Amino acid sequence: MKMPVQTIEYLDSLQALYCMFCGRLVHDRGELGEPCEHQVFFYTSEGFAYRSPAFEDAFGLEGDEGESGDDDAENDDEEYDEEDDPEERLFDMKPGEWLAAMPLAHATLIEVFTPPPSGMGVWFGFGLAMVEA
Ligand SMILES: [Zn+2]
Repeated sequence: MKMPVQTIEYLDSLQALYCMFCGRLVHDRGELGEPCEHQVFFYTSEGFAYRSPAFEDAFGLEGDEGESGDDDAENDDEEYDEEDDPEERLFDMKPGEWLAAMPLAHATLIEVFTPPPSGMGVWFGFGLAMVEA
């Protein structure tokens, strides 16, 4: 299943960002607001700051709030297979593809790039969950 995703690029990383569905302030001057029910993920160059339960479900991730404590170096047991790791599969995809793979209506990706020298990227995923009939 591939869903259409609208992409919006913000050039001003300090611009306040509101959810286009409910109007909640979700990002302001680098501060992450309280995620609303329409926010699917908030991802930065440094990793995830937020993943909704629907997002974790869609990719078979564990809902551990990001503090999994698994240091990469400790993970090289013979049983460990990168191909089977949902986190690894996730990072083979682009943020827009994450949204496209989810059952969302009006999926919208907002990309915010901080100008050099920072060059940091921030990605917000939004969408309306489609209710299964
Ligand atoms: Zn909302």
